[in-house]
Amino acid sequence: MSTTDSMESRLARVRERIAGACAKAGRSPAEVTLLPVSKTFGIDEIRQAMALGLNRFGENKTQEIGQKAPQLSDSAVSWVMIGHLQTNKAKEAARFVDEVQSLDRLSLARALEQRLQLEGRAIDVLVQIKTSTEPSKFGLEPTELPGFLKELAAFDCLRVKGLMTLAVNSPDQAAVRACFSSLRLWRDRMRAEGAQDLTRLSMGMSGDFEWAIAEGSTEIRVGSAIFGQRNYADA
Ligand SMILES: *Cc1c(COP(=O)(O)O)cnc(C)c1O
Repeated sequence: MSTTDSMESRLARVRERIAGACAKAGRSPAEVTLLPVSKTFGIDEIRQAMALGLNRFGENKTQEIGQKAPQLSDSAVSWVMIGHLQTNKAKEAARFVDEVQSLDRLSLARALEQRLQLEGRAIDVLVQIKTSTEPSKFGLEPTELPGFLKELAAFDCLRVKGLMTLAVNSPDQAAVRACFSSLRLWRDRMRAEGAQDLTRLSMGMSGDFEWAIAEGSTEIRVGSAIFGQRNYADA
């Protein structure tokens, strides 16, 4: 990727890739939402993305959202938490975030519910499922999902809309797709057992979203393919 690439051309390329993957899978691009992931990027880059029509951004740290949100309070931006959320950060999340895709344990659900009650807000949540055996990945063990969904039904401020996962970080297409297909199968199973609102599947990132779309993704989380390489040293 050359540094003279503009965000506009990178975004156009992402949309072409989405269209290509959908055509191959016999799906409509309208079925796949693009969630731009702005973590580590600054306000200027986010404003650039907004000028291109994007207004909903994924972030993985409440602290970073808390810094960015006030600077963009003049515009209608929606923040989505996609990273591991510590229970003691529930207060910040409840204040700034419109959606949490990384809900993976009951203690976090309790903390979010309590803080959202105080804020007088309800948010959409996705349950993050561990679909790979990599030790570093967060997420609920899939076998715990049925019980977890039953417990979540008691929380008025959390609207459970679907599932999220990170696939194994591997060039092996079969291994990556197995993670995505297992997420889809768990969603289908839970819906068959009565969880009608469980429709969304957030899966696929810059490097693997074509495979995720082939496996039924309804939402891809794309950072570097839109914003460029992340520089963690500056973050
Ligand atoms: C950073 C991140 C992404 C986006 O990754 P890219 O490879 O830059 O597209 C997606 N999902 C989660 C949970 C992330 O933390």
